[in-house]
Amino acid sequence: MAKITAEYIWIDGQKPTAKLRSKTKIIDPAKSLADIPEWGYDGSSTEQATGHFSDLLLRPVKMVPDPLHREGDLLVLCEVLMPDGTVHPSNTRAFLRQVAERYKEQEAWFGIEQEYTFFDGNRPLGWPDHGFPAPQGGYYCGVGADEVFGRDVVEAHADACMRAGIHIVGTNAEVMPGQWEFQVGAITAPDIADELWLARWLLYRIGEEFGISATLYPKPVKGDWNGAGAHTNFSTKAMRAEGGIKVIEEAMKKLERRHDEHIKVYGAHNEERLTGLHETAPIHAFRYGVSDRGASVRIPMATTKEGRGYFEDRRPAASRADRAAPRWGLLASWSFSSRSSQFPMTSRSTVIPSKRRWRSSCRSSSSWPASWPSRASSRCCTRRR
Ligand SMILES: [Mg+2]
Repeated sequence: MAKITAEYIWIDGQKPTAKLRSKTKIIDPAKSLADIPEWGYDGSSTEQATGHFSDLLLRPVKMVPDPLHREGDLLVLCEVLMPDGTVHPSNTRAFLRQVAERYKEQEAWFGIEQEYTFFDGNRPLGWPDHGFPAPQGGYYCGVGADEVFGRDVVEAHADACMRAGIHIVGTNAEVMPGQWEFQVGAITAPDIADELWLARWLLYRIGEEFGISATLYPKPVKGDWNGAGAHTNFSTKAMRAEGGIKVIEEAMKKLERRHDEHIKVYGAHNEERLTGLHETAPIHAFRYGVSDRGASVRIPMATTKEGRGYFEDRRPAASRADRAAPRWGLLASWSFSSRSSQFPMTSRSTVIPSKRRWRSSCRSSSSWPASWPSRASSRCCTRRR
């Protein structure tokens, strides 16, 4: 029987923002997680171990069809364990599983809007070699080669997510040129976190085919340009039921009391983004409002009208580590329900029709304005997070 490739994907130990890693194993065809062997890797190269005691264990926890390769090939998301099988300190998914189980009767749903910024070499994709593009205003949900940049990558990514069985529900061009968003959900935990990480991995991997990188850095360009967030739409069964608006209002009081604790797990460098400008509330203030995109939490008009529904937490940075999401449950006393993993084994073909190299040459950093992130920080420290 022909072998398949399984791409083992895991999260490393980098701080303050963890990064995705992956490597390929050739295995026999697999129908379930039980058919996929555990594997090891060098934790000293991922900031998860010392060189003297470097072997760590990868335990497969979710498998989806690999949309970029042959029928039967797989993407395999893994938890990181110590050699003796205990949970590695960087493995917050293990904690998420426990919280999801504890609060499963609340049937929490999450829908995450993942914003990100494409970079071509050392500048945002589509930006001029010198100076800046025209001010913001016409780019959001724009159309035309003078307004949106990278649609080929966005469409290839959405197609790959769909083929992988990820619950992607939409994409749009964002306010800053070169910035985009995709949405995943609404689903329960831990699937929302698993699928978001897999979708991020696919974004970076597909970007390779185009010579374009993506960053989740929350404020990739300083100044009068929007940052990148991960707006999180949330509801529990009680919030979705008749009279749920009262439960949402109670939740707002709890969120306000624990605002600082939430900010701590909503992504590094978020203070650069949450300034009170560019559709954000200041990082040290908590405010909620109906249809208010300048608030910390927005209650959609439809929720107010119907007296039930969901709310949108606008504080998380694009780079938030979504394994931290279960802390919401602990902080606000509601959260999560578990859901069995799904992987539709549908037939598919290779997603990317042509391997097209865009402008992959790196330009001189001499034209990089001093107020922008350095080339080193944009390529080495902030991308792929
Ligand atoms: Mg957005």
